[in-house]
Amino acid sequence: MRLILIGPPGAGKGTQAALLVEKLGIPQLSTGDMLRAAVAAKTPIGLKAKDVMERGELVADDIVIGIVADRIDNTDCQQGFILDGFPRTEGQTLALDAMLTQKNLVLDGVIQIKVDESDLLKRIEGRAAESADGPRDDDNAEAFKTRLAIYHKQTRPLIDFFGAKGLLFPVNGMASIEEVHASINKILKNEVLKRN
Ligand code: AMP
Repeated sequence: MRLILIGPPGAGKGTQAALLVEKLGIPQLSTGDMLRAAVAAKTPIGLKAKDVMERGELVADDIVIGIVADRIDNTDCQQGFILDGFPRTEGQTLALDAMLTQKNLVLDGVIQIKVDESDLLKRIEGRAAESADGPRDDDNAEAFKTRLAIYHKQTRPLIDFFGAKGLLFPVNGMASIEEVHASINKILKNEVLKRN
């Protein structure tokens, strides 16, 4: 099964993707995690991405598309994958579409995690305080506001694109982690799998 999790920063995409990994036995492809690993390892991509990420801006499409293209060729992606944080722009969406078409694969669904945005800043502050390895470099109010503004400008429009294709499944992301997970499972069982 090939899924996308989409929603504003701090909506809980990473948390839900990790739960789906356990449930479905397919990998989570988080471009944020992959980029953070590149930054930590000081690879050429990491060196390019570091400042952009700290400001909460988007890393260039060609870099992110290249990372995903390499990753989905791995054998562990043969049964599917959960994209978390990708695509975030129209260019990335078109590139993903082209990659899948070329491999004769289809996207099964896009889970939209809907949240009350006035609550998101509080969540981000909580996440920065709770994180075991210390806060992420972009977990501060300033970077968060940039990330939210970019989400609205560049990523939010993709929701209409996936909606028009009949691939969009919204869930209420304000519920508890377990409840959101249960809603996603229900969608997968009752809507996504039934279509295949
Ligand atoms: P995330 O962990 O998904 O919130 O991503 C953290 C940061 O990594 C983002 O604020 C961007 O700077 C960068 N990033 C992650 N995914 C993408 C993407 N698909 N396109 C561009 N930049 C990305």
